[in-house]
Amino acid sequence: MRSYEIAVVPGDGIGREVMPQALRVLDRVGAEHGFEMRFDHFDWSCETYRKTGRMMPADGIERLRDHDSILLGAVGFPGVPDHISLWGLLIPIRREFDQYVSLRPVRLLPGLTPPVRGHAPGDIDFWVVRENTEGEYSRLGGRQGEGTEHETVLQVSSFTRRATDRILRYAFDFSRTLNRNRLTLATKSNGIYHSMPYWDERFAQISAEYPDVETEKEHIDILCAKFVMRPQNFDVVVGSNLFGDILSDLGPGVTGTIGVAPSANINPERDHPSMFEPVHGSAPDIAGKGIANPIGQIWSAAMMLDHLGEAEAGAHVMRAVESVLGSDGAPSTPDIGGRAGTEDLGSAIVDAL
Ligand code: ATP
Ligand code: MG
Repeated sequence: MRSYEIAVVPGDGIGREVMPQALRVLDRVGAEHGFEMRFDHFDWSCETYRKTGRMMPADGIERLRDHDSILLGAVGFPGVPDHISLWGLLIPIRREFDQYVSLRPVRLLPGLTPPVRGHAPGDIDFWVVRENTEGEYSRLGGRQGEGTEHETVLQVSSFTRRATDRILRYAFDFSRTLNRNRLTLATKSNGIYHSMPYWDERFAQISAEYPDVETEKEHIDILCAKFVMRPQNFDVVVGSNLFGDILSDLGPGVTGTIGVAPSANINPERDHPSMFEPVHGSAPDIAGKGIANPIGQIWSAAMMLDHLGEAEAGAHVMRAVESVLGSDGAPSTPDIGGRAGTEDLGSAIVDAL
């Protein structure tokens, strides 16, 4: 029997509530498709930080390394500054395992009500590809003249040719695998002087290798407006770390809830494990109430199945999710207009499988 070793990190808040539902789904779909999931649990969280002064042990990365994939819930909780939870766990994993692609599908699932009237399910169906290792999210820079009238803060973004080219190539290759293959570059070369003209230049250069992929360039400001007004324009959108981050929350926002949205942090060369996590955070406002929507975590698990080569099982999970969401009287969590709990919705999906 095929077997996969999965590192499971539920993390904080609702991460701990939605993860068990995804694991049930994985067990069930594995049984249906003839493979076994072996879950290795890592209880790393802000609680760990409070007790030990670290989000994960010093050898945390080494302990994750030999797994086929990492399934993460959410990290971060009030009381622990975001830069500690992010730089203490998420960012080291992304960088040490060179997960340089963040891939997020944006799709209006049946039964959801988008906040903008007039969008039908088929209208919102595209992918955001985000550079995940460098760029605007850097520690370069600092403060000068602190406390004086000349106090100045420098935040330096750095873009290497290697990282820029590889994410663009990934986006072109990925576009090719889809039937509809228009690739849109998120840029801001009319305002940002050095880096964005460079992205435009690399995009144009690499596009010459992909004559079959239609390309388009949009400045980030108008691109945001178009995500809301004309989401049907997009197939694949590629952007830098910051632009990709913004777009990949805006996308699910346009579908009505971030509670269902998944993401993948991928190491395409497969030298290291990739990591799959919902777009949402630990949602302290609803944590502990048992009402979080588990679909973001379950869809992330489906993306993990695709990555592991179990695409049929991944598609099966998504059919189950869609059939539950699309059926009358299905248990819905409050974020999608119902009164059911996390476990009720998880059970309905397991039953549909
Ligand atoms: P982070 O900084 O970790 O990304 P955040 O501040 O962006 O976190 P989230 O934790 O994602 O915030 O929560 C944003 C809002 O969305 C909250 O009101 C939260 O309750 C809601 N939310 C997030 N995830 C879910 C979910 N799975 N089900 C229902 N509501 C959710
Ligand atoms: Mg967020």
